[in-house]
Amino acid sequence: MSDCIFCKIAAGEIPAQKVFEDDSVIAFKDLSPKAPVHVLIVPKKHVQSVAHFTADDKDLAAHIFVDVVPKLATELGVADGGFRLVMNTGDDGGQTVNHLHVHLLGGRKMTWPPG
Ligand code: AMP
Ligand code: ZN
Repeated sequence: MSDCIFCKIAAGEIPAQKVFEDDSVIAFKDLSPKAPVHVLIVPKKHVQSVAHFTADDKDLAAHIFVDVVPKLATELGVADGGFRLVMNTGDDGGQTVNHLHVHLLGGRKMTWPPG
């Protein structure tokens, strides 16, 4: 989408602190980190949210969770100690950027419940 900030980051039109990229996914540091490790894992394809996934996205969803998350958690040093994945979805879910993204947060003890 032309006015979507994460599409622009995926296209290289807006700079980001990239930590991973392949054909279908990009991951970069969150601009406003909420933990010592806070990266966003983003499909290059514009999907509004996890509620908008379709059957065509099964490989993409599996790639994110089976390939990218464990690899990044290991590389960022949080795989053993633990980390949190967050997908804020829609208004009530607190989503502010309407391009699907997985927050990977770690490096500190998380609390529950979320706000
Ligand atoms: P959410 O509220 O779940 O939609 O998360 C959006 C996240 O994107 C927030 O944590 C923001 O800090 C982050 N964010 C917004 N713009 C940028 C940007 N240009 N580069 C990196 N992170 C961003
Ligand atoms: Zn987008």
